[in-house]
Amino acid sequence: MRASLMNLVTLREDPADAEIASHRLLLRAGYLHKSGSGLYLYGPLMHRVITKVQAIVAEEISRTGALQITMPILQEQALWEKSGRWAAYQATRTMLTVKDRNDQVFGLAPTAEEVVTDYAAAVVKSYRQLPVTFFQQHTKFRDEIRPRFGLMRVKEFIMMDAYSFHASDESLAETYAAMRVAYTRAFRRMGLEAFAVEADAGAIGGTGSHEFMVAADVGEDAILFCAESGYAANVERATGRIAAAPGWNAPAAPQVVATPNVGTIADVIGFLNRNGFADATAAHALKCVLFVAKTVPSATKQAGADVSVAAFVRGDREVNEVKLLNSVNRHLGAQGPVLSLRPMHPEEVRAATGAEPGFAGPGDGLKVAVVIIDQTLKDAGALIAGANRTDHHVVGVQLPRDLPADRTVVWDDLTTIRAGDGCPLSGQPLAERRGIEVGHVFKLGTKYSAPMHAEFTGQDSKLHPFIMGCYGIGSSRVAAAAVEQHNDADGIRWPMAIAPYQVVVVPAGKPGDAATTTAAEGIYQALLASGIEALLDDRDAKPGVKFKDWDLVGIPLRIVCGRGLATGEVEFKPRGGESANVPVGEAAARAIVLVRAALAVV
Ligand code: ATP
Ligand code: MG
Repeated sequence: MRASLMNLVTLREDPADAEIASHRLLLRAGYLHKSGSGLYLYGPLMHRVITKVQAIVAEEISRTGALQITMPILQEQALWEKSGRWAAYQATRTMLTVKDRNDQVFGLAPTAEEVVTDYAAAVVKSYRQLPVTFFQQHTKFRDEIRPRFGLMRVKEFIMMDAYSFHASDESLAETYAAMRVAYTRAFRRMGLEAFAVEADAGAIGGTGSHEFMVAADVGEDAILFCAESGYAANVERATGRIAAAPGWNAPAAPQVVATPNVGTIADVIGFLNRNGFADATAAHALKCVLFVAKTVPSATKQAGADVSVAAFVRGDREVNEVKLLNSVNRHLGAQGPVLSLRPMHPEEVRAATGAEPGFAGPGDGLKVAVVIIDQTLKDAGALIAGANRTDHHVVGVQLPRDLPADRTVVWDDLTTIRAGDGCPLSGQPLAERRGIEVGHVFKLGTKYSAPMHAEFTGQDSKLHPFIMGCYGIGSSRVAAAAVEQHNDADGIRWPMAIAPYQVVVVPAGKPGDAATTTAAEGIYQALLASGIEALLDDRDAKPGVKFKDWDLVGIPLRIVCGRGLATGEVEFKPRGGESANVPVGEAAARAIVLVRAALAVV
């Protein structure tokens, strides 16, 4: 491609609202045009990058034996009613919907479990056809609350989504493992340092899941990991060993203490330290957080019925709301499923405890539907808890000893694990890093096939629901994550495999100088003839301007035909690397070797 024909428009200045490198650089170099909030137009350069990402992903997913298909983006409400997800996705407003001329409502694909399960039910009848995996690369829509960071979180994006169907859990485990290998290979080929972490399954559901993360300081996800055991998990789901609180001088029997005008746990501890309990710390307190859980509206239930929930964790720790939501769903039984939690409003706290906010505790007087207590508080010794009475606490509460006889509690893991806590496997301190989620794999089991009656005839001649897995890679987010990992002060540094073009040849002689033009044209034509994606910068611009543009755009190799031609040499300048002089006659051949080596699939 000749640069004069590329409509190349680059910006000197950073766009005002771009907070992270990928967003900033992709806008500045003309890859993206903001078309609306959370909506981007992919310019010609971006189109090439995305196409390459998709090709690599498709190649690696196909290698597992998966079959590529294309599903409709418009999804019938009735299909989603069958799986039971319509109400949940409507209530959380994750799905965008449209109506046709007959007022029929459709969802715009946020994911495609229902559509593909319906397909499998139609085309896969016997265990002899299993396992089978279908995948597509198609547009997805999500009504994100806060679109941001350019392509990272948008309302419309491209996802590779794959769905596997099995006759047994063992078969699912095999495909799940093969997909993890495919992901690892795909990300490595794209020059991304990605790693798998244990993840929460979220709205997709199922029995197990891993996220693939690209390490980046700007990542929205926190990951806890242990170098010794290899454990790595999203903080939403991480488990860990929490050091026991130190011993302290607590009363043997619970003692109600007036604690006037203290609000926070720190205030309560400070007050008690000054009033007879010198060695009490926040780790001896019991933190009670009160929530309202919203259940999914259904035909038989009032829309979004509310359930009150009390969550207890140690005073120096935080409630993990993802763990809490999962726990509520596991234990609420007939009342579930629960979609979301919100902290109680002050008047709700007063109704639930009979006290002002700040004095809730596990004793009599706490009136909530569900009490969930973090397991670390069981037999943890004496604790300081709210007395469900304004300006009063109880010192020396022991759990479960001092729970009211009629109180039903659930013991569960509710605590947010943090760096320094012990690894659940090795016990060594966990470390923390941030990551961008680029892919996700889920073991779904029969979550979709059972309610949708998607069944096959087994070896026993009986009907069985498919055992399923699903797998997603955000192809457009991957492109942004690659920029996040590969950039410098001058611009983008694309890995060769996903660069929009691989080599740019820049004539840098005096305007109209025939020797530079001829040399550049010759190298350019030789590269094209060998299938290299080459650019020739034939624009009427100063060399310095050209160099700046290609650094910003991020072309991996620049070949400059300039002053060196006098002695028969051109300059090779890998993006971000050292330049070297190369004989003009060898330039094309050397560039071809370089590009091919960088693209080699290992
Ligand atoms: P997130 O936690 O970032 O909202 P998710 O867990 O909802 O993502 P999945 O349902 O697992 O996403 O979708 C699979 C992949 O699609 C993600 O790993 C991510 O790469 C991509 N993806 C999801 N939401 C978006 C979005 N709003 N914009 C761009 N890519 C997205
Ligand atoms: Mg996910």
